[in-house]
Amino acid sequence: MKLYNTASRKIETFKPLGEVVKVYTCGPTVYSNAHIGNLTAYIYWDLLVRALRANKYKVKRVLNLTDVGHLVSDGDEGEDKLEKGAAREGRTVWEVADSYIEKFLDDYRSLELSEPEVIARATDYIDADMQAVDLMTERGFTYETRDGVYFDTAKFDDYAKFARLDIEGLQAGARVGFSSEKRGVADFAVWKFIQPGEKHAMRWDYLGRPGYPGWHLECSTIIHETLGEPIDIHTGGIDHIPVHHTNEIAQSYAAYGHELARVWMHCNFITIDGEKISKSLGNVFLLSDLAERGFSALDYKMWVLSGHYQGARNFTFESLGAAKQRRLNWRNRIAALNQQDISSGGSCRTFSSPTSLTLSGGPPPGPSPARVTPSGHINEILNAVNDNLNSAEAFAVIDNSELTLDDWRMVDELFGLRLIEDSPDAPDDVYELLRERDRMRAEKDYKRSDELRDLLLEKGYTVKDTPEGAIWQYAE
Ligand code: AMP
Ligand code: ZN
Repeated sequence: MKLYNTASRKIETFKPLGEVVKVYTCGPTVYSNAHIGNLTAYIYWDLLVRALRANKYKVKRVLNLTDVGHLVSDGDEGEDKLEKGAAREGRTVWEVADSYIEKFLDDYRSLELSEPEVIARATDYIDADMQAVDLMTERGFTYETRDGVYFDTAKFDDYAKFARLDIEGLQAGARVGFSSEKRGVADFAVWKFIQPGEKHAMRWDYLGRPGYPGWHLECSTIIHETLGEPIDIHTGGIDHIPVHHTNEIAQSYAAYGHELARVWMHCNFITIDGEKISKSLGNVFLLSDLAERGFSALDYKMWVLSGHYQGARNFTFESLGAAKQRRLNWRNRIAALNQQDISSGGSCRTFSSPTSLTLSGGPPPGPSPARVTPSGHINEILNAVNDNLNSAEAFAVIDNSELTLDDWRMVDELFGLRLIEDSPDAPDDVYELLRERDRMRAEKDYKRSDELRDLLLEKGYTVKDTPEGAIWQYAE
């Protein structure tokens, strides 16, 4: 597989560090609903994991849920996002976190994203956070101010390397009075103290005072506890490069003395009708908003995967309509394959079982679709995905190739599109209407045959005439 590595700014041939490929994905801050822009990352990184598995790698993947300590700015200013959510909704921070975690996981599942081996809540790793701060302090990487323990970026020679940061430029541009106790402009809090009178419900005693971890810390400690650094692949959005991931790298080195990750992958942002996603523009669409307009989560996933993860994508409802149509077209190709026996006069229905696959991690029970004989097209599809996750190219191959049912099973396995499961057999009366229509056409009773076609449409099916006879197709 070839993957673009942000650390080297190059496309590299992927070489695993050990027997199990360790993957970490920076997860959501659970203080509000995930909008469709937020969800793109999880779609791309699920493809990454599925592609690794299709290449026969064993994968252990960890996703974190930020339920504490993420301030409104990625620096150390502003309110804690969770506290803000709680104030907005008149609920406790714990209730807010629980409810948005549930919503996020609902979205996650409706997108058919394979479950990570570990889903880690930041608040379950507070002891590890304190130990990490202790280690960084022992090794001379921190200093204390009135409002927290800060990472001294001047002590880490490579601090600017990952994001190619211009520290002097940042320093010159820093606002006067900006966190006056900070020694360097890029220094960041690894632990925050709660000031007297400050409302902060999530609090833990450390260094004799109540406080909470700095946002960046959780990813370093969760990786340390669940995977062990260095990991193979670390993923996130491009906005994570200059601050969040830069700080993760610095902390992990300072606390544990290791490189954090070998390959860093970042996905780009989407705009909607050319605009940034923002509340003021009223374009913060959730999956539920798409559903109200007749689009399923998997239609959206088709739209996401029809582009490249590194491209800045522009979302329109028109392009979502095209993605929905494409998925319908693929399901109808499966329906046509399933009807081949019937239309050639046989009575046996060959509908493939949707239950022969598992979509989540680990070897599927029973016969693995990886062991069925794939056609050459499947290799072409996999080759496209192996080329730095070029799902757009893979989709073009699918459009232009004659796939077998086994091929379609593998397409489902690779992209998690639930094509087979969403292509069930039609009920008996559909077949009866179809055959009657055949008879009417043979008798040249076109009026009756058109009526039968309309009846089928009412039931949600269209009719397609093929050289082997008429078959039904899903109308939607
Ligand atoms: P936010 O809750 O707005 O801070 O977003 C959380 C994460 O979602 C960000 O760190 C980004 O990586 C990602 N994200 C936000 N907006 C978009 C977007 N328009 N397109 C893609 N990813 C986004
Ligand atoms: Zn992170």
